[in-house]
Amino acid sequence: MTTAHDTASRPYHVDFLREVEREVEGGEMVKMCMQCGVCAGSCPFGPHWQHSPQKIFMMIRAGQRQEVLTSDAMWMCTSCYNCVVRCPRKLPITTIMHGLAAHSHKLGLAPKMQPTRDFSLRFFDNFRRAGRVNELKLTLGLYFKDGFVAGLKNAWTMRHVGLGLLKAGRLNPLEMLGGHKVKDQRGLAAMLAKVQEIEQRERASG
Ligand code: SF4
Ligand code: SF4
Repeated sequence: MTTAHDTASRPYHVDFLREVEREVEGGEMVKMCMQCGVCAGSCPFGPHWQHSPQKIFMMIRAGQRQEVLTSDAMWMCTSCYNCVVRCPRKLPITTIMHGLAAHSHKLGLAPKMQPTRDFSLRFFDNFRRAGRVNELKLTLGLYFKDGFVAGLKNAWTMRHVGLGLLKAGRLNPLEMLGGHKVKDQRGLAAMLAKVQEIEQRERASG
């Protein structure tokens, strides 16, 4: 059986552009990119990230499936929209970058320890249960993700911020016991189920 990893490890995929057009929101616009480089020059990350949007779009058209889907570039986008307002071809660059991140995550190809991805998963898992973010659990989860000793070091380094939040009432130790929830828990569950249903339907019809 061919796995997603096997498929991705082939160097060139002539049908990768079609896959992006089908699976990624805004992906049908990738072929409109004229490689002018304005987005790369406008992005606050500038030369600091692995692949600029310009490079990612060129790689998609070249069929470099593995390199694109395992890149951490899509996870670095801060949604500042600088590139979008300047793109002469009006590509929805931010939407495409986030769509590529979601697609690579779905396929299990996204870089596992990429910090933005890690935080997104923790954040979603945290709020999904109660409909509200439990700041204490989220913070402690991040501090202790690399083990107990690393967690203590992180907590010590950030103690002034933590104390400030405690004093301001932004961090409540009682949140460890469960925390506050939205009143309509059934409504929340129904809403999340609906989102999942719409996503599955769109994927099936895509
Ligand atoms: S600014 Fe638009 S057209 Fe130019 S390289 Fe970026 S995505 Fe392509
Ligand atoms: S929206 Fe994302 S890709 Fe575009 S300039 Fe901002 S950080 Fe860069």
